[in-house]
Amino acid sequence: MTRSVYFDHNATTPLNPAVKEAMWPWLGIPANASSRHQFGRAARQALETAREQVAAAVGAHPSQLVFTSGGTEADNLAIRGICDGLKPSSLAVSSIEHPAVMRPAQSMQQRGWKLAVIGVEADGRISADQLADTLAQPVALVSMMLANNETGVLQDIPALAEMARKRGALVHTDAVQALGKTRLNFAELNVNAMSVSGHKIGGPQGTGALIVDKRVDMQALLYGGGQEKGRRSGTENIAAIVGFGRACELLASYPYQGEAVRNSLETGLKQAGAIIFGENAPRLPNTTFFAIPGIDGETLVMALDRAGFAVASGSACSSDSSDPSPVLMAMGVDPSLAQGAVRISLGPENTAEEVQGFLLALQYELSRMQNMTAIAV
Ligand code: PLP
Repeated sequence: MTRSVYFDHNATTPLNPAVKEAMWPWLGIPANASSRHQFGRAARQALETAREQVAAAVGAHPSQLVFTSGGTEADNLAIRGICDGLKPSSLAVSSIEHPAVMRPAQSMQQRGWKLAVIGVEADGRISADQLADTLAQPVALVSMMLANNETGVLQDIPALAEMARKRGALVHTDAVQALGKTRLNFAELNVNAMSVSGHKIGGPQGTGALIVDKRVDMQALLYGGGQEKGRRSGTENIAAIVGFGRACELLASYPYQGEAVRNSLETGLKQAGAIIFGENAPRLPNTTFFAIPGIDGETLVMALDRAGFAVASGSACSSDSSDPSPVLMAMGVDPSLAQGAVRISLGPENTAEEVQGFLLALQYELSRMQNMTAIAV
């Protein structure tokens, strides 16, 4: 495979070499953290060190952390686990949630729960008025994401959570995209539960965690040997968890600082006629979600891929579908414009030169596509 410039860090990130180095020694060892012998004890110690590293990166206490197989499982554990600890009543999610929150929330309807969906404003921010309306009826659990995976729009979770908690609701936030790109502190967010994922920050795929207030009566999704204090059974993947811990530790020395590069990208995109979704809302500093009127997003993504730039159309997690992005639909974007949506998500290794190269390639591909349309007409 020839190497492209990778501009799709919200989908996944390259494994940080320092993370790989930390994981390597654990790959050959019979490391079951429940065993009493020296191998088991070493694994337990590595597991607890990783727990401390992840907890430190997210402003939580290590005892609040449940390791999971990723952000998806953490979201499912939050929604299903918290609801299963309560009598069926109502839960609410925002209309822009990732399917890892939306689907389990919908699945609770089959278990007798009522589901309310809270809309967003045109800029992608959750409507505080709609949240207030939803909370006029009793709601047991509200889930609202901190940073959107497509637009990068950031929500004012402390204020929204305060509204929900005042009405007696528990609050979960999906912070998968926030970790490593913006300040993240569980205590400051004023929520009861928060999901994070390892592979968005240079850690291995298949790692994640739910941070959960110990006072929340949460049921497990997986029953078995009682690992993670009974909240997530299954022999822990020590090598991967060590990698997740190291990736979190590295965040302290490599916080994402690419906002100026992203802004120069957006200046170039706008000169090419692009509309940037959520442009005026607070956003992650690495993410640009845009469309150029009259240009199909899928076609542009394939053309850019051939030109050596890996970007995404819509959300990678739902990219099997050719339907317009539900996030853009929730923001009231015209479906024909939404069909043109392309996401660029930069990482710490991307440079200003790569962005300039991208803008040149874009210009070339756009004129080619426009010429082809002119010939066809
Ligand atoms: N939540 C958000 C906002 C995401 O962007 C993703 C993945 O892209 C997930 C959850 C799922 O995380 P994972 O891939 O670790 O299962």
